[in-house]
Amino acid sequence: DQHVVIVGASLAGTRTAQGLRALGHTGPITLIGAETELPYDRPPLSKTLLSSDWSASAVDEVRLISTAELDQLAVELRLGTAAAGLDTAAKLVRLADGAEVGYDVLVIATGAVARPSPWNPASGVLQLRTLADARAIAERLALKEPVVVVGGGFIGTEIAAAAVAAGCPVVVVDPVPEPMARLVGPEIAGSLVGLHRDNGVTTRFGVGVIGITGVAGALTVELDTGERLPASTAVVGIGSIPATDWLTGSGLTLDNGVVTDGFLRAVGAADVYAIGDVARWPHPGRGQQVRAEHWTNASDQARHVATAIARGTEAAYESTDYVWSDQYDWKVNAVGWRDPRGSSTVIGDLAEGGRVAVVHADAGGAACGVVTVNWVRALNQARRRLMAGEPGATIVEALRQLS
Ligand code: FAD
Repeated sequence: DQHVVIVGASLAGTRTAQGLRALGHTGPITLIGAETELPYDRPPLSKTLLSSDWSASAVDEVRLISTAELDQLAVELRLGTAAAGLDTAAKLVRLADGAEVGYDVLVIATGAVARPSPWNPASGVLQLRTLADARAIAERLALKEPVVVVGGGFIGTEIAAAAVAAGCPVVVVDPVPEPMARLVGPEIAGSLVGLHRDNGVTTRFGVGVIGITGVAGALTVELDTGERLPASTAVVGIGSIPATDWLTGSGLTLDNGVVTDGFLRAVGAADVYAIGDVARWPHPGRGQQVRAEHWTNASDQARHVATAIARGTEAAYESTDYVWSDQYDWKVNAVGWRDPRGSSTVIGDLAEGGRVAVVHADAGGAACGVVTVNWVRALNQARRRLMAGEPGATIVEALRQLS
C-alpha cells in the first residue's frame, strides 16, 4: 500500500487521485495544493466565468470534483500549502510551512503560471490563470470601461470576447501579425481576426507594447509605433511558464518543465512522475521533447500515471494531441500537430456561417494534424483516421465526401 503524494491540486492532480482510487489503489493519497480553492477547471475561466454572475452555483460549475466525491476518495487534502522543496534521496516533500511529507511515489502536477508581465505599474495590470484572477478581471469588466488586452493568443482573445460582451471597448495588441496562426495555422488565423473585428474588437497586430504606466482606471499602454492607448484595465496574456521553482536543487532535470522519459517518469529520481502542463516528455510522433499546455493532455497523462502506479504497468504515454477554443459562437478544434515545414490542404469555407477543416502534413508528407472550425464531425473522423495512420490524401478525400 504505497503512499502516493501528488503536488498540485488542479486538473492533473485531481484526476490522478480519482484514477488511483478507481483503479483500486488502497494506500494513502496526499494531495497538496498551493491554492486555497477546492480544485477547479481553468478553461471556463475565460469562456464562461468572466461573463457569469459569480453566484455560488456559477462558481460550483467550474469545480473539478464535488466535496462529496472528495470525501469518498479518502484523500488527505492539504490546500493552501505550497510545496517548497523536494529531497528525492529521503523521499520527502518539504512544504512552505516547514512540514515534511514522505512519499513512496510522487506525482508532480504543479502546472504552469502566467508568464509574468514585464509591465507592472502600481496596480491595474491583470493576468488570468486562477479563479482569483478571473474574479479580479470580471470586476474590472463590469465597469464597462476601455480594456487593452496584451497578447492575441487563445486566452487573450477569449478575454477580449468576454470584455466586448460585458460592454467594454477593447483593443488587443500583439507584435505578431497573426498571433493565432501558431495555434491554428495561417489558413484559419485570418478568419479568426475577422471574427473578432466583426464582434467589435479592435486588433492591433504586428505592433509591440513597450510599456504600461498609470494606475487602474487611468492606464496608458505605450506602443512601439509611438502611439499611447488609454485604458482603464490592461490584461496581459503572453503565455505561461512551468511551475518548477520549488524543484530547484532537487536533482530532477528541469528544462522548460520537468523532463520525463516516455513513461512520464521524471529524469533524475526514482518513483517520481511529472504530468500535465509542468511535464516535458518525449513525444513519439514528433520525435522531440514536448510540453503541452492543454486540458486533454493533463487529463490523459493523469490517467496514464494512475494506471502505472495502481497496476504496476509500464507503458509509454501516447498523446492524443487534442485542443479546443471557443471564440464567440465558433468552435475551434485541433488534433495532432502542425509542422511549419510541411504542407496543408483546406476543405470547406468559413464564409457565411460555413465550416472548414485543414489537414496538415509533415515535411515528409505524412498526415500529422487536422484543425477544424465549426465542424466536429470532420474532426472526429479525421482523428480516427490519423490515429489509424492513414495517408493525408485519404483523410482529405474522406473529409471532402463529408462536405
Ligand atoms: P494547472 O491547472 O496549472 O494546475 C497546477 C496546480 O498546481 C495549481 O492549482 C497550482 O496552484 C498548483 N501548484 C503550483 N505550484 C505548486 C506548489 N509548489 N505546491 C503546491 N501546489 C502548486 N486548455 C485547453 O485544452 N483548452 C482550452 O480551451 C483551455 N482554456 C484555458 C483557459 C484559461 C484561462 C487557462 C488558464 C487555461 C486554459 N487551458 C485550456 C489550459 C488548461 O487549463 C491546462 O492545460 C490545465 O489546467 C493543466 O492542468 P494541470 O493540472 O497540469 O496544471
